[in-house]
Amino acid sequence: MPEEKSKVDMEKIVSLCKRRGFIFPSSEIYGGLGSCWDYGPLGVELKRNVKDAWWRAIVHQRDDVVGIDTSIIMHPQTWMASGHVDGFSDPMVDCKACRQRWRADHISGDKCPGCGGELTEPRQFNLMFKTFMGPVEDDASVVYLRPETAQGMFVNFENVMTTSRKKLPFGIAQIGKSFRNEITTGNFIFRTREFEQMELEYFVKPGTDEEWFNYWVNERFNWYLKRGMRKENLRLREHSKDELAHYAKGCYDVEYLFPMGWSELEGIANRADFDLTQHARHSGRSLDYFDEETGQRYTPYVIEPSAGVDRSLLAFIVDSYAEELAQGETRVVLHLHPDLAPVKVAVLPLSRNEKLVPLSREVHAELRRCFVTQYDDAQSIGRRYRRQDEIGTPFCITIDFQSLEDNRVTIRERDSMEQIRLPIKEVVETLQAKLSGENFVTQPLWTAKPISAVEGQL
Ligand SMILES: [Zn+2]
Repeated sequence: MPEEKSKVDMEKIVSLCKRRGFIFPSSEIYGGLGSCWDYGPLGVELKRNVKDAWWRAIVHQRDDVVGIDTSIIMHPQTWMASGHVDGFSDPMVDCKACRQRWRADHISGDKCPGCGGELTEPRQFNLMFKTFMGPVEDDASVVYLRPETAQGMFVNFENVMTTSRKKLPFGIAQIGKSFRNEITTGNFIFRTREFEQMELEYFVKPGTDEEWFNYWVNERFNWYLKRGMRKENLRLREHSKDELAHYAKGCYDVEYLFPMGWSELEGIANRADFDLTQHARHSGRSLDYFDEETGQRYTPYVIEPSAGVDRSLLAFIVDSYAEELAQGETRVVLHLHPDLAPVKVAVLPLSRNEKLVPLSREVHAELRRCFVTQYDDAQSIGRRYRRQDEIGTPFCITIDFQSLEDNRVTIRERDSMEQIRLPIKEVVETLQAKLSGENFVTQPLWTAKPISAVEGQL
């Protein structure tokens, strides 16, 4: 069976991201650095919106989850306890002729795929970035850049539980950078060595873990749908027994149909009591929970939904990208959900005529108090609409000479391209209503219908 692929071409996405200031190659004036990318003026807004949407859903809109922000460099014992020092590695072989390094399990035969040279015996290569803390570069000062944010939650379990007076079940959430010295990177921002994660550790009473595991798989799958991702481009994949870590009771991946095929956006794992038990053992501190209702003392189980910020962002761009025929020409448009769109409203005076400037500036000043806006008066109105379509701006406001007479402006909607005229004093309220998540009606490109559950997926 041929590999299923998205209809969107990755080259087009990379080019749009560069052209419009979403994503640039890192340190490009020096020729770039492998697998490192910089978020430009629109990219940083989109990325913040993705993270805010997650934080709102996971932390602000719930009573049972609190957030933290922990340091990237942690006590080295953390990574002994977590198993990363001993187990977080890939088998590698080096070419004796060209010195290229390969993952042993990714090549067939015993010759270098690059030059045909002889290869070394496989060796384990740890994926953690290592550095030294303080002035002395010796074994005692070795520290690691965290390969996941999760351990920050486990080592703070007691601090957070005590200070926030939480009872089980409850969760600790974090968004932050992680680092993995991957041998194979690529597919734009999909797999990079420096990346950002959105992770939740949700602690539950043993015995209720299966139920909570199912709950979080559904929650997380629906999160993508509610932000406009198309259901046919999303799927859940259950890990087989030999894919599972030895301690894990179960794991599902939320996968997206990227241009390179189905790939992981997020993993939801039932990690049982592995993490807290390990940290209790290595630190000598009890991380048990005392259940006041039953008088029992036990180590909580944990359900971990772990999502990638960068790959979610990429999926949202790919999913919303469209080339459409409009008035005899092709327009490129990002049908981004309004929560995610970097710019919500663009103010476009019909021309640069000086009579239009005062009112246009006034309208813009009013709107930017409530929304992220852009003011654009360069080039023809048609080209400016196209420019806003291409960056996913849901609404454009046009001020023309008639506006000076009747105090009305034109609102153009991105997806339908429909235009309505409205009194200036009603603009803010109208846009607020249209932009508030679920009221926003667009093309059938994204699901405006509420999705109650992931039927038939579990
Ligand atoms: Zn070679």
